[in-house]
Amino acid sequence: MGIENVIFIIILAAAIFMFVKSIRRISYNINLGRDFSFTDDSGIRWKTMAKVALGQSKMTARPVAGILHFIVYAGFILINIEVVEILIDGVFGSHRILSISGDFYNFLIGFFDVLAFAILLSCIIFLIRRNVIKIDRFQRPELKGWPFLDANMILVFEVVLMSAILIMNAADLKLQSLDVIGYHHVGSFPIASFLVGVLPDSEAALIAIERSMWWVHIIGILIFLNYVPFSKHFHILLAFPNTYYSNLKKKGELDNLESVTYEVRLMMDPNADPFAAPAPDAAPPEKFGVEDVSDLYWKSIMDAYTCTECGRCSDVCPANQTGKLLSPRKVMMDVRDRAEELGAYKRKNGVDNVDDKKLLGDYILEDEIWACTTCNACTEACPVNNDPLKVIIDIRRFLVMEQSKIPSELAMTFTNMENNGAPWQFSPTDRLNWKDES
Ligand code: SF4
Ligand code: SF4
Repeated sequence: MGIENVIFIIILAAAIFMFVKSIRRISYNINLGRDFSFTDDSGIRWKTMAKVALGQSKMTARPVAGILHFIVYAGFILINIEVVEILIDGVFGSHRILSISGDFYNFLIGFFDVLAFAILLSCIIFLIRRNVIKIDRFQRPELKGWPFLDANMILVFEVVLMSAILIMNAADLKLQSLDVIGYHHVGSFPIASFLVGVLPDSEAALIAIERSMWWVHIIGILIFLNYVPFSKHFHILLAFPNTYYSNLKKKGELDNLESVTYEVRLMMDPNADPFAAPAPDAAPPEKFGVEDVSDLYWKSIMDAYTCTECGRCSDVCPANQTGKLLSPRKVMMDVRDRAEELGAYKRKNGVDNVDDKKLLGDYILEDEIWACTTCNACTEACPVNNDPLKVIIDIRRFLVMEQSKIPSELAMTFTNMENNGAPWQFSPTDRLNWKDES
């Protein structure tokens, strides 16, 4: 084992250590949320995950982006088989160790060569869409600053990684054709072969290019691995559990609080038995609704970490489209940013301590919350089955039930429901008057 391999092993161990640390941070932040167990319909859940996360079914609504995304996603997963070889070579000092598999190896390397080029092209098109064509949903206020940089950085990253593979392959091919020791005749390079002509003829220069591109590729991947948990691209991993734990209820069906349902039933149903024991879970919760991320269920925080910031939700949101303050994408981004902030504070100051900020007020404003029509267009459009509406409804619940803050348009409706048992301003005794009007 040479010094090169020792350095490689140290870098690899450090990268894995830092990645595990990041995963623990995100897991801690997600678990700031309230507990909720999903034990129902595991068959439907696996199918949903296979369809939406693996099959990317919701990406087809916008075919151009969908196809390009599929190439990058599937290509990136498949091409990582080559990373297995790079890791083995890096640790043991071998060169293209998997070539012992013979013709199949040649096919795989040829396939990866084409795939690397397809990913490279797709990323360039994505960069053009964001920065030259300036597609509207990527220009909204919530994407200014870090989100804009993050989206571009990851694309540039992938361009560099794929270019490194192609240049490395081209140098390898030329070294093979020169019968240089250590570079035996393996692999097929349908794309990289076009680059051979632009490479130098010197054996030393070719080896330097091949080795440096090998290092650029693997170091790039290890940096990528540690960058992703700080980026919206963490959805690469979280899309799978997130879609598994999708909201399987029919669109429009909201969670009712048992304690409230019990009270309302007593009030609205003349036949309800006021002495009947309430359901076991009908005890009022410590707090109604959501004021901060720790009041959310953990799934809503996982949604936020899975958000790809694609803006499909805001693009179909009638409130957003008519110029209201609400953007469901921003709601998701706010939940994630607040979870990061509160998680960091608790890790530093102790789990029982909280800072003086809140999700409601410091991140999400009341005007945003009340602009929602509860139409569910956002949940329908989301490619990773996020549920921004759940967060919105839960914050509304807090405003109404804990703070009695209700827009004036709704206040009258609520008063009528309380006094008249219906949203209208008529006494219940007048309800059938219409049949006398003839
Ligand atoms: S449910 Fe609310 S946030 Fe979602 S699209 Fe409709 S109005 Fe927008
Ligand atoms: S919530 Fe879904 S649709 Fe909206 S930006 Fe995030 S990933 Fe895209």
